[in-house]
Amino acid sequence: MKTNDKGFNTKLIHAGAFDDEFGSATVPIYQTSTFRFKSAQHGADCFSGKSDGYIYTRIANPTIRAFEQNIAELENGYDGIATSSGMAAITTVHMALLGAGSHIISSDAIYGPARGVLEQDFSRFNVEATFVNTSKIENIIQAIKPNTKVLYIETPANPTMEITDIAACSKIAKEHNLILVVDNTFCSPYLQKPLDLGADVVLHSITKFINGHADIVGGVIVTKEVELYKKIRHSMVYMGCNMDPTQAFMVLRGVKTLALRIERAQENAIKVAEFLESHPEVEWIKYPGLKSHPQYELAKKQMNGFGSMMSFGLKGGYEAGKKLMDHVHLALLAVSLGGVETLIQHPASMTHAAVSKEHKLAAGITDDLIRFSVGIEDVEDIIEDLNNGLLSIYNK
Ligand SMILES: *Cc1c(COP(=O)(O)O)cnc(C)c1O
Repeated sequence: MKTNDKGFNTKLIHAGAFDDEFGSATVPIYQTSTFRFKSAQHGADCFSGKSDGYIYTRIANPTIRAFEQNIAELENGYDGIATSSGMAAITTVHMALLGAGSHIISSDAIYGPARGVLEQDFSRFNVEATFVNTSKIENIIQAIKPNTKVLYIETPANPTMEITDIAACSKIAKEHNLILVVDNTFCSPYLQKPLDLGADVVLHSITKFINGHADIVGGVIVTKEVELYKKIRHSMVYMGCNMDPTQAFMVLRGVKTLALRIERAQENAIKVAEFLESHPEVEWIKYPGLKSHPQYELAKKQMNGFGSMMSFGLKGGYEAGKKLMDHVHLALLAVSLGGVETLIQHPASMTHAAVSKEHKLAAGITDDLIRFSVGIEDVEDIIEDLNNGLLSIYNK
């Protein structure tokens, strides 16, 4: 169903859904690898583009298309490209937009493997990457070279919670003919719409907020314009990192409650952040909804809410953090984020372990940094759990 003229909550439920001959209320799982042509001519027409019939699931599939169209409407984009994982979305975009001799500028604090794949893999194909703190726009301008093709940002950044001004990046990107790519995983389109702020491409690990139930891994890319869409879709199909129909079914189910989940999680998050900020054992905390966040005003302007991700450090450093992580019981000690359950993890030794110590420190990923993803449990229980964990630090 086209819901372009409808509100966001209506889009969550109905965008991308289509009627089938049985009147299914949900989009069924088309668990098939291939599709029968009506005739040899029909097969030829599907391949030449004269007919838009389905051919083969790596190229396109009805369940996957429903999700792709759903997310495209949520992001106010042209269309979506669903992938097997968030990393597949990232590598597909790089594969489509970069080539030997080209240069990419990226936020320095980004998802660990998103940095790793540029440093360790694309570098082997003579793609050069510069990592800067993109929350300071002048750093981006200084890094631009004649061969710079892509400006890649993550905001809020993982795990430092630094915020980059998307509209300002878009202005620079247009002036220098760069393609602006935004990893919107930490926000989801409910909290931030990068394409509306001038980005060319937005991508997600749908493993996180969009699916929201810690039961599948997946990714998606949405572009603003058709030409870029075709280029990136081509790379996805040729690299073969398509989403599976069952993944698409699961995320179509998960996304329906995105707004409700985020509203509850961020309602909890501000209370958790205030608790941590006032706790004597906490040295620092970064949450965009606290006035103490250096970019609180930008967050307020650019985001439609402050989300449920935060990072903090304890006075006792990593050792104290380790004790806390070993003594919380409700919060799962696990990587990933944005699910209904509260998660706690230590980026320096876990999600960002592959980033060198020097680069971690330069990007602000200190050893004491603990990342916390607030779920939708009762907030009193989340705070009690943290309080008990923090008390364990004193009990030597
Ligand atoms: C998890 C994550 C990714 C990678 O996604 P996968 O689904 O795990 O491949 C990319 N970016 C951000 C911000 C993430 O949190």
